[in-house]
Amino acid sequence: MGLLIKPNIFKPYPQLVAAMSLRGGKGEAFGFNMSTAVGDREEQVLANRQHLAARLGFSLDRLAVQHQVHGDRVVYVDENYQLGDSDALYTNKTGHLLAVSVADCVPILIADPDRNVVAGVHSGWRGSVQNIVGKTLALLKDVYTLSAENLLVWVGPSAGQCCYEVGADVAGAFDSKHSRGISDGKYLFDNRGVVVEQLLAEDVLPERIEVDLRCTICDTRFQSYRRERERSGRMFAVIGVKEESLD
Ligand SMILES: [Zn+2]
Repeated sequence: MGLLIKPNIFKPYPQLVAAMSLRGGKGEAFGFNMSTAVGDREEQVLANRQHLAARLGFSLDRLAVQHQVHGDRVVYVDENYQLGDSDALYTNKTGHLLAVSVADCVPILIADPDRNVVAGVHSGWRGSVQNIVGKTLALLKDVYTLSAENLLVWVGPSAGQCCYEVGADVAGAFDSKHSRGISDGKYLFDNRGVVVEQLLAEDVLPERIEVDLRCTICDTRFQSYRRERERSGRMFAVIGVKEESLD
């Protein structure tokens, strides 16, 4: 499996580039870590990002990295993109790779393969409470007058209901069907299920949603904040449209 996984749903469209980095880096403190905010060496993180971008045919300066704050701000990316606080990025420009940083939160990659519009969304439980994925889809539909039926969506590996223990405060923020009580005040929460429901509510077709059901907490090929705490790095889920070739 190496350092990357690639969604299947975008594969019929050669102009679409999408992948997610894995934990990798056996023996290194943070593995194949993409975050400069977890205590890893900055040179190592930049080398990891460079490696990821290059593997996918992009240069490091075209990798758009946001400062995620568990909010609902959705930001447009082009050559003028500046790092800022947001949890979703989108573009209709070729040659930009949009990054979503995760370790247990749900990464969502979205593409309209006919219009070459792409988006990447970060949805932890706080993002899900604010329906950031629904807000991103509503914005895309509005800005590009695109139809939800044309969208392809990948919901990446994240904390699974097998392991994702939350308190009544989190469980109570969602419909009770998304959590299962295990003991007094403790629940197992299905954040991925919430995200899929939010996609369907925006009229994305079920057959055009690919859900990677692997759990980042119990599958050690992934970075997991729940499992590793302060020793956890972050993975990037990325999506972009290749630059048109000039020949
Ligand atoms: Zn699990």
